Amino acid sequence: ERIDLKLWLSALLESFQERADAHQQYLQIEIPDSPPQIESNPDALNRILVELLHNACKYTPPEERIVVSVAVEQNQLQLRVTNFGAEIPASALPQIFDKFYRVAHADRWKQGGTGLGLALVQKLVKRLGGAIDVNSAQGETTFAVSLPIVV
Ligand code: ATP
Repeated sequence: ERIDLKLWLSALLESFQERADAHQQYLQIEIPDSPPQIESNPDALNRILVELLHNACKYTPPEERIVVSVAVEQNQLQLRVTNFGAEIPASALPQIFDKFYRVAHADRWKQGGTGLGLALVQKLVKRLGGAIDVNSAQGETTFAVSLPIVV
């Protein structure tokens, strides 16, 4: 299905803006001025970004930033969600995509959850033939998804 990246993102981010505002988080979007239309599965794409944004909002403390960036490079769509103020311990990173795995947060950002969000994201990314990477260090966490697309 044909997807207009700008339309898709603005609709999606609008729904998260309210939530970020309510938590005093700063939501920042980086998207090219005129991204090409792409061919992909809109439901899967939406679910992937919704889950990543949901986590970012959930684990980011007030007054910190969440940055969503989208880029189209050759035949890849690159989606990145970075959030500040919440680090995943290196020892937990290998398990982060496992079903029901959750990091035990001892601090006051402790949040409820099932540990299924990232397992679903990984499954959808694989189904679309893409890859997902996570980096977490020095108080920031980035999930980077790259998906093959037809421009
Ligand atoms: P649910 O899927 O029900 O929201 P969850 O958030 O615990 O539950 P996952 O989305 O699978 O489950 O995430 C697994 C763990 O990874 C979380 O418990 C959390 O500790 C950590 N995590 C995920 N995303 C982030 C993030 N953006 N920043 C910091 N920690 C994160």
